[in-house]
Amino acid sequence: MSKTTLAFLGGDPAFSTALHVGRPNIGDRDAFMRRVEEILDRRWLTNSGPVVTEFEEKLAEQLQVSDVIAVCNATVGLELATRALGMSGEVIVPSFTFIATAHALQWQETSPVFADIRKHDHNIDPLAIEALITEKTSGILAVHCWGRPVDIEALNVVAKRHNLKLLFDASHAFACDYHGQPVGGFGEAEVFSFHATKFINALEGGCISTNNPELAEELRYMRNFGFRGYDDVGFLGVNGKMNEISAAMGLTNLESLERLIAVNRENFDSYQQAFADFPGLQFLPAPENDAFNYQYVVAEIYEEECPLARDELIDVLWEENIFIRRYFYPGCHRMEPYRSQSSTNDRQLPETDAVCSRVLVFPTGETVNGDAIRQVSGIMFQAIEQAKEVKLAIEKRSNA
Ligand SMILES: *Cc1c(COP(=O)(O)O)cnc(C)c1O
Repeated sequence: MSKTTLAFLGGDPAFSTALHVGRPNIGDRDAFMRRVEEILDRRWLTNSGPVVTEFEEKLAEQLQVSDVIAVCNATVGLELATRALGMSGEVIVPSFTFIATAHALQWQETSPVFADIRKHDHNIDPLAIEALITEKTSGILAVHCWGRPVDIEALNVVAKRHNLKLLFDASHAFACDYHGQPVGGFGEAEVFSFHATKFINALEGGCISTNNPELAEELRYMRNFGFRGYDDVGFLGVNGKMNEISAAMGLTNLESLERLIAVNRENFDSYQQAFADFPGLQFLPAPENDAFNYQYVVAEIYEEECPLARDELIDVLWEENIFIRRYFYPGCHRMEPYRSQSSTNDRQLPETDAVCSRVLVFPTGETVNGDAIRQVSGIMFQAIEQAKEVKLAIEKRSNA
């Protein structure tokens, strides 16, 4: 570790992991502890207890939908929604997403068919979808990557034209709007993640939001083994329930929503300033006129213009205990079991491959501030200066 980093960290190794993509945000600890005490006093720990119910109500308000079903995580939420919507055969998804998007389908014995993304926002390309539709296609599972909503209008048109179910993986997009309306109410249903690393966390958790009360009712049964009543099982169900402590964490963090957006936004702006002159580095901009959570600070490194490769920059910062990272690399279509499937291994996804090779995600959230961000940029500027000098020296020698 360099001297400068040690100084920045106050010389205390305990802080050496202070900068880490996905470090959890934690709301008012006293409020959380009070809720935990109440839960323990009540001895009602799970099975749609009062805290889960309150969390669902607050979520429905925030997302402006009729129904929210809290679940144990977003992966199970996606599986429940896939099954409840009757999706089977093939479902079209982006490859540039967390592997759980594809796995949730495959776990339901439904084949993910990978579509390419758009270069400018890393979201699924509606034009690419149409080319992949076959008689086996039953739906589209689109991802609001980095919280930036996909082109929902275009997807609605495609889904309607081909009679496909439209489901959204909104894991990144809590508190993000699309044309002034919160993500959560689009398509047949949307699924959010409250995993520890997400904008709002419930330790582990997730929810399904929908404006279809019948679908919601079925999902509630399915989440609880298919129980419709005391001893009446009406569906094939699973255990997808959220527990009370998770809901307490989720509720508490939800109360800090405005503060967390402000913190993320300030960090987002600090990154733009600190890296304004960095060669070959471009940040993905925030949407211009819509609410946004600023949870992901995403840059792309164009190696033609940058003296160091993306992965070299990552190595330099990891040496300094600053854990920036590439993301979704190398794409779901290049991971098992999909890589070995004949339907996937001849698929060309040039934009996905290109974005996978360029993306660099920076730490943000309440454990990061302007000083830390300037520290990160300082180290990176220093690294490219050194790389330039080395290059020059090599050129000189080969010219001599
Ligand atoms: C985090 C994430 C998931 C999985 O969420 P869990 O709650 O951890 O199951 C799914 N899709 C995307 C895009 C994610 O980022």
